[in-house]
Amino acid sequence: MDAEKILEQVAREVSVCSKCKLQYSRKKSVPGEGPANADILFIGEGPGFHENEQGRPFVGAAGKFLDELLEGIGMERKGVFITNVVKCRPPGNRDPEPAEIGACTSSYLERQIQAINPKVIVTLGRFSMGYFLPDARISSIHGQAIMVKGRLIVPMYHPAAALHQQSLKPALEKDFSRLPQLIAKAIEKPETVQKPPEEKSPPQATQLTLF
Ligand code: URA
Ligand code: SF4
Repeated sequence: MDAEKILEQVAREVSVCSKCKLQYSRKKSVPGEGPANADILFIGEGPGFHENEQGRPFVGAAGKFLDELLEGIGMERKGVFITNVVKCRPPGNRDPEPAEIGACTSSYLERQIQAINPKVIVTLGRFSMGYFLPDARISSIHGQAIMVKGRLIVPMYHPAAALHQQSLKPALEKDFSRLPQLIAKAIEKPETVQKPPEEKSPPQATQLTLF
């Protein structure tokens, strides 16, 4: 099956999914959207009020800010793939629970990543970062390119967090400004990405000093 077909299949399954209790708070599921061959995959936390109404990711205030951040680096939303760790809205926007994240990522996010095979995965917020780097602190590693199981991960603050806490905004803007260069490197010289320098702890994640 080609990437587009896999993504369509995931979206179909998500719309009727009953693998966790977030099925009960869902109005519309939000599988994610973007080109199947996108170089960048953004992964947020989960649908909020507006996303749940529309069935599309990042369409509320945080989404507007994400659009601006993309515009600021000369990118368009329609050129990137955007999804979330959970595809259904947690009631009252509460944090997604580990069991919900586990059920949803193993059934859907993993297949989306495989299908899209992006050059770079940008995680937005703690929950998305925690999926790849369970012990990391976002305040210390945001904006850094980190190789996790063969994937280049760049953790960033969540746009909603930066809207609520203005002090995070410059950090998020700076991290975004470095993205084009990082992606160019990942595309031009994949060998520099695939061959990280000596392993440092933690063993499963090697930070790239190249970028
Ligand atoms: N916040 C998220 O994490 N995801 C969305 O889709 C919207 C807001
Ligand atoms: Fe299924 Fe994910 Fe929705 Fe839970 S959040 S019901 S696992 S699609």
